[in-house]
Amino acid sequence: MAVDLTQDPAVEELARRTAQFVREVVIPVEEREHGVARSEDVRIELQRAARQAGVFAPHVSAEFGGHGLDMLGRAAVFEQAGYSLLGPLALNIAAPDEGNMHMLEAIATEEQKEQYLRPLATGEVRSCFAMTEPAPGAGSDPSALSTRAERVPGGWRIDGHKWFITGAEGAAFAICMARTAGAPGDQGGATMFLVDADNPGMKTIRHIETLDESLYGGHLELVFDNCVVPDSAVLGAPDQGFRYAQVRLGPARMTHCMRWLGIAQRSQDIAVARAAERRIFGSRLGELGMAQQMIADNEIDIAAARGLILQACWELDQGRSASQSTAIAKTFCAEAIWRVVDRSLQLCGSLGVSGDIPLGRFLREVRPFRIYDGPSETHRWAIARRVLRQHDRAAQR
Ligand SMILES: Cc1cc2nc3c(=O)[nH]c(=O)nc-3n(C[C@H](O)[C@H](O)[C@H](O)COP(=O)(O)OP(=O)(O)OC[C@H]3O[C@@H](n4cnc5c(N)ncnc54)[C@H](O)[C@@H]3O)c2cc1C
Repeated sequence: MAVDLTQDPAVEELARRTAQFVREVVIPVEEREHGVARSEDVRIELQRAARQAGVFAPHVSAEFGGHGLDMLGRAAVFEQAGYSLLGPLALNIAAPDEGNMHMLEAIATEEQKEQYLRPLATGEVRSCFAMTEPAPGAGSDPSALSTRAERVPGGWRIDGHKWFITGAEGAAFAICMARTAGAPGDQGGATMFLVDADNPGMKTIRHIETLDESLYGGHLELVFDNCVVPDSAVLGAPDQGFRYAQVRLGPARMTHCMRWLGIAQRSQDIAVARAAERRIFGSRLGELGMAQQMIADNEIDIAAARGLILQACWELDQGRSASQSTAIAKTFCAEAIWRVVDRSLQLCGSLGVSGDIPLGRFLREVRPFRIYDGPSETHRWAIARRVLRQHDRAAQR
């Protein structure tokens, strides 16, 4: 089948308006807040402005108040939103809420959609996704999942320990992955549960201090201790959690890439503006060969990242698993975007590491992306295994 990456004119128009909104409204707030939204007041201010500009919730269906973009359309709009660290929060497409909305639309019952998806889509509440556990639990290898859920009359009791749960501070609910069958190391047997924040069995241990700060609601360590939930808290069917995680993870990997690509483009724009003005050794910085190489390499990384995202999104829109193309795109983007921000900072000299421009912050914010949504090594391992399996199948024919 021919790959068609043509964007609908309505999507192009939404992307254009998003770019304008981010430059005119969001970046001034980003500058005022030093790159990080630390209060509900800022989140509410930004989301109100996004609603007024008609760019709010581009990803959810019209039934839930959104623009209903497919993955290809999201690629165009999310990159523009990502041009500011606060753009995704403004449009209600920041992680983890955006991935959770995607999964709830795909899997939740009608009652669950009304109770959890609708207020999430309008920005009335936030959410988190609780999968990762301290060693020896789930991390790069989700099959190590050791949080357990046992049947109790009328529901389930969850016990376990999670950490690095983004957005958990102030979230109205968590989607918690727990083992309902088998033992750590087994491939299946996980179930997703919707756990309300006021459940006394879900407790915060601490805020984990990390290199990055801009993902709203921080990264929390949580304990599930005798956390009883009703049967209606099961998202989808019991024991299908790993399958549903794939529904969330493939698209969520791509939307992370889209948002961070916006930051790569912004970094390049800052560096190019500086290289065009700064004069050293008798010429403009941008006319010196090694500076030109950095500008060109940035352009190549950005173009390649964009191309890989679009290819993977097209496959997802065709209903394909896209596991190989999303893994390739995620690995390349996480590393390429880091390179772009790093080169841009280098081009700006001492100014680059100062707080006068945002490149130092961007570098800190983007570094963890090579770890979450699958570390580069896990993806390379999975990519190589698929290639070898393909080789083995071809050799047997
Ligand atoms: C900022 C941030 C936000 C996060 N948000 C969330 C969240 O909201 N919800 C959630 O559930 N989790 C979240 N995580 C957790 C994240 O998904 C995990 O950190 C990630 O899956 C890696 O797991 P781990 O940290 O346990 O590393 P480990 O599994 O211990 O892996 C350590 C290292 O081993 C290497 N490695 C991995 N696989 C292979 C391989 N096959 N071959 C060779 N080497 C390999 C990699 O270098 C890897 O970094 C977040 C993490 C960060 C840093």
